Amino acid sequence: MTAPRLDIDLDKIAANARALVDRLAVRGIGVTGVTKAALGSPGIAAAMRRGGVRGLGDSRIENIERMRDASITGPFTLIRSPMPSQVARVVATATSSFNSESTVLDQLSAAADTQRRHHEVVLMVELGDLREGVLVDELDALIRHTLGCRNLVLTGLGTNLACQSGIAPDADKMTELSELVTAVEARFGIELSVVSGGNSANLTWALSGADAGRVNELRLGESILLGRDPIQGDAIDGLHTDAITLVGEVIEAKDKPVQPWGTRGPGAFGVPSPRIGAGIRRQALLAVGHQDVDPDGLTPPTSVTILGASSDHLVVTTGAASCRVGAELTFQLNYSALLRAMTSPSVAKQYASARGLQAA
Ligand SMILES: *Cc1c(COP(=O)(O)O)cnc(C)c1O
Repeated sequence: MTAPRLDIDLDKIAANARALVDRLAVRGIGVTGVTKAALGSPGIAAAMRRGGVRGLGDSRIENIERMRDASITGPFTLIRSPMPSQVARVVATATSSFNSESTVLDQLSAAADTQRRHHEVVLMVELGDLREGVLVDELDALIRHTLGCRNLVLTGLGTNLACQSGIAPDADKMTELSELVTAVEARFGIELSVVSGGNSANLTWALSGADAGRVNELRLGESILLGRDPIQGDAIDGLHTDAITLVGEVIEAKDKPVQPWGTRGPGAFGVPSPRIGAGIRRQALLAVGHQDVDPDGLTPPTSVTILGASSDHLVVTTGAASCRVGAELTFQLNYSALLRAMTSPSVAKQYASARGLQAA
């Protein structure tokens, strides 16, 4: 089989989604499955659906269009503020979108009017991580503006933490969001059905037994795909951490000196980490590099150590294990490695399921 490739086990992805959906359901929280790391892969989206997510979210409209074209069922949420240049596509394809700018709301409403439909809107609130969201002081004005847009339906509030400044989505922040929702409902005489508390980084809070308050939705991508808590990197109890693995093929295997020789300068990707020790050891080269994956985000099989990488080569030492040319090695990935491999056209995607095997 061709390499490098991602081996994607759709049954494990469905099982991961199911485990999180069930655990969060008892806390009154539903899951929107986030597909952006998989570029809206219809197979992965369908697996998340089988796992019980109540909708799908993606930050890019072309990924949502890809899922719609493949007859995946929504609702679909665009979880990044729409680009003004794309409002017509957003209204045509996404059920709802996350917003924080009045000019974008105006343009969404106008596009929805042209298409004779309504578009649902969740307003994002800035709670300190300093990525998207309206400041709390300016929330009332943005709500008033949204309520004045004829073709928009305000369905709720959301927030996003942890991604930019590493601000923890803890009980304090979630209580703040809940209180904002209650206050806004009272001031405007409206009901908000969606209170979207955050992403996979919220799981520590959500599974801690803390009262969820008004929070009734999390948007989960990384935790479903990798089975890990993004903050600690720890495996989440009962989830598969090998639903997606990277397979590379060995193209050279030789006994080589541990230490390089000659006049030293930087390597192609900066100063390489020093090689420790002396003598000779087994070194293998795999045909996979920075262009395919983030090598720093790979976990090799036991007994294999990654020594370095360049655009197209991954250099490993295989310890005592012999390693033939043509052999395949399987690596686990972190989010950064997954994102790059999923996005690279030179990494094949091999989907497997008890329902059948499929390449794409
Ligand atoms: C990417 C993203 C998510 C999902 O994050 P994961 O860490 O993959 O769970 C949720 N919400 C927003 C706004 C995002 O951009």
